[in-house]
Amino acid sequence: MADIQQSPHPIYVAGEFKTAVDTLAVFSPYTQQCVFRTFTAGADEYEAAVTAACAARRSMRDLPVYERFRILAETAQGILAHRDELAVIMAREAGKPLKTANTEIERAAQTFQTAAEEAKRLPGEVLSIDWHRSGLHKDAIVNYFPVGAVAAITPFNFPLNLVAHKIAPAIAAGCPIVVKPASKTPITALTLAKIIDRAGLPKGALSVLPMDRAGGNRLVTDPRFALLSFTGSAENGWKMKQQAGKKKVLLELGGNAALIVSQDADVAAAAAKAVEGGFTYAGQSCIHTQRIYVERPVFEPFVSHFLDTMVKWVIGDPEKPDTDLSVMISERHAMRIESWVKEAVAGGATLLAGGTRQGCLYAPTVLTGVHRGMKVYAQEAFAPLVVIEPFTDFKVAVNAVNASNFGLQAGLFTFDSRQIRYAFQNLDVGGVLVNEAPSFRADHMPYGGVKDSGLGREGPKYAMMEMLEPKILVTDHR
Ligand code: NAD
Repeated sequence: MADIQQSPHPIYVAGEFKTAVDTLAVFSPYTQQCVFRTFTAGADEYEAAVTAACAARRSMRDLPVYERFRILAETAQGILAHRDELAVIMAREAGKPLKTANTEIERAAQTFQTAAEEAKRLPGEVLSIDWHRSGLHKDAIVNYFPVGAVAAITPFNFPLNLVAHKIAPAIAAGCPIVVKPASKTPITALTLAKIIDRAGLPKGALSVLPMDRAGGNRLVTDPRFALLSFTGSAENGWKMKQQAGKKKVLLELGGNAALIVSQDADVAAAAAKAVEGGFTYAGQSCIHTQRIYVERPVFEPFVSHFLDTMVKWVIGDPEKPDTDLSVMISERHAMRIESWVKEAVAGGATLLAGGTRQGCLYAPTVLTGVHRGMKVYAQEAFAPLVVIEPFTDFKVAVNAVNASNFGLQAGLFTFDSRQIRYAFQNLDVGGVLVNEAPSFRADHMPYGGVKDSGLGREGPKYAMMEMLEPKILVTDHR
């Protein structure tokens, strides 16, 4: 394994690995020790990155598809070749268990490979133009051109794959990109930059700049960017949209995902998927299964399967290969969820499991008997917490799922095709998963939300559409 700790990791500025004036210490949420050091990009590095990105617009636009494909495919291979190093980095800086980190690494490779394939399918069309007599003797073609430089800001929770979901479609679409990774997890993103650099991306087309929020905010307001692509909390995302000026904005924000389990469901399978959706990476996923509605006749068996499955989860050190669940990203977040649960219990909710905290480690927690106004129910938990409630009327359960400010994905366990159709038509979300938890994502899916959960879609093909704009060529042949 490569040296992953000793010297400070240089940052990636306009195709060069460089130091900067201010150092940034990265702490393990599990040990609380400083595990890595890197640098915070200052004004000089920022300016160099943006100037280079603007200068690379034309070379990226003209980069042949076979080159885009090669760079993206070699990056996918490079990610897999560095999987042990990347997994340990993620375990250390994000507290992500190795098992979960390994899944993310495979997905990030898939994201790059998918983008490589999508680069070969850039859209375009021939348009008949004689819909009115003024169009006689003319024809038209529509091609899609890269929008220009992209500013990307990413969260801590998928420090590799969500960075991949910004960079891979940008390369496939022919856009230069400047990325600000989360300050808690910059080393994973910088390691990815090394892999991409080795694959031969033109210099200047990518910069990865760790910055604090104030520094990173320049990406939001800078008019030289054509698109801001943000993944993070709803609160920050919608504020950024206000500050972004004339650039396009793509927002992948928070959720409060729900799962409905009908009485005809395979209850054991539903419970197993719900445990996975509720507790993977300590619930720190935007499609974390938070609210579970179970039809009254199968409520007791569901809860019993759920509790039996969750106690088998191995809790502890993220660097141990058999660990299923570890710490939250910070003690502040663990204390927040602890206080929400205490408040719910004081307000009459019943604690079925968990509710305890040791530093950043919050025990997997199950509540029932909650009220609509409680934070554990109404707000995004982003923690290893699920709320399980019974229902008697399927349509009322669908309404309950929709009675949320968020709308990313929802799950449904049933074999009843009428219920599936009703749910698909009536759930206000970006994706409906049947006989699967709402926490499932395949990386080529269109992915994104409605309401507070965001604006636009990712998944390489869909993100590329955000990064391209149509231009029409009309020719008169008389
Ligand atoms: P966050 O909003 O606190 O931070 C996300 C990123 O934005 C970080 O890099 C942060 O430094 C940066 N940032 C915050 N304010 C900024 C500002 N004013 N200017 C510039 N940059 C700024 O989110 P987080 O805690 O890192 O991640 C958790 C959130 O992300 C949750 O709400 C989760 O649901 C959401 N999320 C959404 C998706 C999705 O695809 N929809 C995926 C993962 C996470």
